[in-house]
Amino acid sequence: MRCSEDETMEEVLELFSMEYALEMILVFDGSGRITSANQAAKRQLEYGEELCGRFVWDIFPAELGVVEAQFIKEYPFGMTVRDMSAYRKNRTCFPCQVRMLEWEGHSGFYLCMAYDSTERDFLEKRAAQAETDADAALKVKSEFVANVTHELRTPVNGILGNTRELMEIEDEEKKMKLLRLVERGCNDMHAIINNILDFSKLDAGKFVLEPRPFNVRSMIDYVRANHANKITEKGLEFFITVSPEVPEEIIGDELRIVQILNNLLSNATKFTSVGKITLEVVKTAQMNGRVELFFLVVDTGIGIEKADQDKLFKSFSQVDASISRKYGGTGLGLNICKQLVELMGGNIRVESQPGTGSIFSFYIWVDVPGEELVGTQEQPVEYEMPQFVRSLSDLEENQKIWRYGEKENLDEIRKNLSKLILSVEMDNWEKAEMFSETLRELTKEAPGEVKSAALRLKMAVQKADYDKVVAAHEKLAAQLSTVGD
Ligand code: ADP
Repeated sequence: MRCSEDETMEEVLELFSMEYALEMILVFDGSGRITSANQAAKRQLEYGEELCGRFVWDIFPAELGVVEAQFIKEYPFGMTVRDMSAYRKNRTCFPCQVRMLEWEGHSGFYLCMAYDSTERDFLEKRAAQAETDADAALKVKSEFVANVTHELRTPVNGILGNTRELMEIEDEEKKMKLLRLVERGCNDMHAIINNILDFSKLDAGKFVLEPRPFNVRSMIDYVRANHANKITEKGLEFFITVSPEVPEEIIGDELRIVQILNNLLSNATKFTSVGKITLEVVKTAQMNGRVELFFLVVDTGIGIEKADQDKLFKSFSQVDASISRKYGGTGLGLNICKQLVELMGGNIRVESQPGTGSIFSFYIWVDVPGEELVGTQEQPVEYEMPQFVRSLSDLEENQKIWRYGEKENLDEIRKNLSKLILSVEMDNWEKAEMFSETLRELTKEAPGEVKSAALRLKMAVQKADYDKVVAAHEKLAAQLSTVGD
């Protein structure tokens, strides 16, 4: 610690074991010049022996620099501990807790004791962050509970109401109609409860896959059968391609692969009102009796904002509360998909553009029974991605559909108008409402009178008022006939 030949100072410093103290200790005189420093100070400030001779405000310029000349007169010396930034020789700095005292018995000398508080600050910040995270998690969970409760209440109310009505009805046809509604309510609840159970098992790490041999193309046929009606009923096209290299038989958890595809296709259907939905299956790599299968689900729906895309696969995340109100759902589906895909050695991702569409893709590794496959552990064989795999830019042509007045837009409006009137004639009001919503979206950029005609049509459909629907339909059709004149 010795910087000068001042014996008495040295003695005192030794007396207080300052030299080897963990904190930094500086001794300075009435002009602010450092006359001694202990080992910790020389090391941590990285000055070594050059520390003596510097001014104390060279070390704490932010806090002491402003009072340089008056420092000794103005600084409130005493036991108070202050937070300051200590600057090293290379002008990098770190946070310190500092105490400055007049040195008792050494008139004209002062002591500065400083303790590096980087770690403490870090721990404090981490504790604060943990608290914020915990608050946010709690908020997300309560929103989730509110959402699920709402989701369950809808089918339960439906089941209750319909069952009560059933008990009083004689008419067989009406009974069957109500029973179908009851069945639908039960299915909805069943799906929600299954999702919650899957999620909690996955979250607890207790989920076990059950791989068995199965035929890939039969599985895809089953998935097609699950969704084809709903997709075409909405007036959308549905394409499925399984590339020829995909093996006939694989060993995997068929139920769970179907679950992932069902979830992605249901979302694609839910969030698409015009255009098409495509499912593609491709073999992308092969190694040691295993193959990598790549699945793509492409839609021309509302798309997802970039900022929301990262949130998609997190638990309980629904991109926007207003969307979940409109479309329903618990927000667990994609998180479950992600966890299942990861259990199958793969990964899931999304590419999307609002107003253009979304591409959800995932790959998984599966075994192929009883086949000598090319490729070894060290040398996997990778396949070129086939041409037909779409990219986001391929979907952009879809945007014309939404630009009011474009040929694609007018064609789509006409198509939806005739589908709507057909559904009304067939007394299918639910379907008619779907087309009326699509019409409203297709006329979003239209002039005021067209927009309000579309809105009136939607309201008439919601009220199931046949005459008003026909009138609103004619009005909208008439307005369209003048576009482009
Ligand atoms: P849920 O079970 O509520 O549908 P998901 O985890 O499957 O939950 O989806 C979460 C959210 O992601 C949806 O509420 C929706 O906002 C968004 N999303 C998922 N798929 C699509 C898609 N194909 N197009 C647009 N938005 C989507």
